[in-house]
This record gives sequence, C-alpha cells and structure tokens, in this order.
Amino acid sequence: MSDRHYLEKELQALLRNDPQIFEFLQSGSLDGIWYWDLVDQNAEWMSARFWETFGYDPASKQHLVSEWQEMVHPEDLERALENFQKHAEDPNHPYDQIVRYKHRDGSTVWVRCRGLIIRDAAGNPSRMLGAHTNVTELKKVEEELRQANEALRRSNEELEELTYIASHDLQEPLRVVASFTELLSERCENELDETATKYMNYIVDGTHRMQGLVRDILQLSRVSRRREAWQDVDLTAACECGLGRLEEVVKESGVAVALTSLPIVKGDRSQLETLFENLLSNAIKYSHPGDVKIEVSGETDPDGTVTVHVKDNGIGFEQHYSDRIFRIFQRLHGRSEYSGSGIGLAIVKKVVEHHGGDVWCKSAPGEGSTFSFSIRET
Ligand code: ADP
Repeated sequence: MSDRHYLEKELQALLRNDPQIFEFLQSGSLDGIWYWDLVDQNAEWMSARFWETFGYDPASKQHLVSEWQEMVHPEDLERALENFQKHAEDPNHPYDQIVRYKHRDGSTVWVRCRGLIIRDAAGNPSRMLGAHTNVTELKKVEEELRQANEALRRSNEELEELTYIASHDLQEPLRVVASFTELLSERCENELDETATKYMNYIVDGTHRMQGLVRDILQLSRVSRRREAWQDVDLTAACECGLGRLEEVVKESGVAVALTSLPIVKGDRSQLETLFENLLSNAIKYSHPGDVKIEVSGETDPDGTVTVHVKDNGIGFEQHYSDRIFRIFQRLHGRSEYSGSGIGLAIVKKVVEHHGGDVWCKSAPGEGSTFSFSIRET
C-alpha cells in the first residue's frame, strides 16, 4: 500500500470525502453504474446516467433488479447470469459481456457490462459493483463493415463466375477461328502474295495468343476460394505432377530438376499442382536454353509453416520488380523475346493466398531467381 503514488492516495481520499468527485467519475466516464445487494438480491442502486442511457427519467425508476432485467434481451440476460454464476464461483472468471438493452423508443442499445463481486470476510459474495459503457455506435460501424464485406464478397464471387463463364465459353468459337484460319493459310499457301502471307501469319499468331490468354484467364478464375476439395496434399507429388504437365517443354529444353522431398499440407491438390506448373514453366522459360537447372526444396518451421523454394539459374531480373510481377498482366520481358500473358504469377499468388500463405522472390539479372512460398502445415 505504501508504494502507491501520492496522487492516487489523494484521489482515494477525495473520493471518500467529496461526493462531487464520485459524481464526476460515474457520470463523466461511464454510461451508468450499479451496485447490487447480493444478500437481499432484489435491491440494486442504479445511477441516473444508467437510466438516461436508455431514455428514462431516473425518477420514474425504482432501485430494483427487476427494473433492468426486463429490459435486457432474454438471450443476453441468460448469458450475463451464467457469467455471474461463474464469477461468483471463481473471482478470476471475468463478469464482462456485451448485452442488448431495449431503449424507451424501442431501439436497441448495446452495452458493455462489467462487474466485480465484493465478498465478506468469509469470502461469500455480499455486493456487486458494475459499470456500463454504451457501445451502440461501435456496434453500428461493425455491422456496416460486415454488410460492406458481405457485398464485396458477393460481387467478387459474381465477377469470378462471370470471368469463368466468359473465358470458358470463348474457347469454343476461338477454336473454330483458329482451326479455320490455319486451314485457310495452308490452302492458300501458294496463292497469296508476300503481303497477304504476312497478314495471314499475323492472324494465325494473334489467334494462338488469344487462345493462350483465354486459357490463362480461365485457369485464374478457377482458383476459387471454396474449401470443399481440401485434403492432405503431398507437395512432392504436386510438384511432380506440375512438371508432368510441362513434359514437352522439359524434353525440348533438356531441363535438370533436383527435387528434394517436400512436406504434406492441407490444401487443394489441383490448385497446388497448377502453382508448381506455373513456377516451373517460368523457371524453364526465362532461362538460358541448353543449361536449365532447377532446384525445388522445402522446410517446415517449428510452428508448422511450410516454405518451398523454386530456384532457377535463368536470366533473373532486378529485385525491385519482385512485387510488381505478381500483379495480373505485369511482364518484365517483351512478347517478342518470351511468350506469355502475364497471368501465371497472379495465379500463383491467388493459390498461395487461398492457402493462407505468402509468396515472394529473390532475383538479380543474370543470376537466376528463387521463388518461395509459405503455407501452414495441416
Ligand atoms: P508470363 O510468364 O506469362 O509473362 P507471369 O505472371 O508468369 O507471366 O510472370 C510475370 C513476369 O515475371 C514475366 O513476364 C517475367 O518478366 C517475370 N518472371 C517470372 N518468372 C521469372 C523467372 N523465373 N525468371 C525471370 N523472370 C521471371
């Protein structure tokens, strides 16, 4: 007691001796206080501010427990009484909850209600002191935010659905255009002059690019946030499968892939295979042909976080582009040098985020790149 600050001691004394101080504290900092007789159980003193918060004239109210209990939402009253029991049995269990009161005008007032049981010399509950804080405004903001989030989620879902349908349905007419332009180009091979042949090649090339773009957009829109397909996924197998999808390119460019055993995680197998497919396809594409070495390794932290690295010995890029390249359609290399739509890494990022993780890369021009991602283990 003796090491209490002198001002604290002074304030305690003021509180004891000057009723104005108590009045200031209870009306200036709280939205009501109450003091309950736990021996009588019916008698409870409520401050004037207590009633004013709910729109009542304090003079019209009696100092009885029943006066407030009938204004509280029944579910919240039940919860508050449960907490009261627990706090009575164990002082360490806090009596602290948000309850809904009915205002005189019929609206709801959200109140944070905290209380402390005061015990007699034998340790039996004798009184209870409580304080109210009106949190209605906070609750309203919380509700508005929840509604805004819900609207955003719905509109995102609609957009994803639309992207999926559009890219899926565009594939068929595009296939028709692509195959007939190719047929036409073969058929007219000897009849077209140099300029017409050039134009024809542009058309064929443009159609192929559009097919690639539509395919990538479709893949991006397929990375849904749904978790129905979640299961234990062996990342080694997912990586091998991603590599398998690149069989032709792998054969062509004589790639050497060193894959060490990777952990098992909870996730969407098909999405994780797509993730590896995109990282490996980039590692092969942005490389020095004839000398492509890729290393895939991973580790698990003591907290269960799994981190995987895909390292290549390719052309690399300036480190300050490392955030930008994960954005859709962002490319550092021209189409004439390297084909692509700028969607692969956006897919990777979406998959990783869907798995509650993070993705990043380290690179330098001419020194290769390492793309890493982390997700939490099962
Ligand atoms: P795309 O490969 O279709 O262009 P991505 O989204 O997969 O699209 O990649 C975005 C850009 O990031 C690429 O255009 C390239 O400039 C750069 N990039 C990605 N991976 C690598 C890599 N392994 N090495 C060097 N540059 C890369």
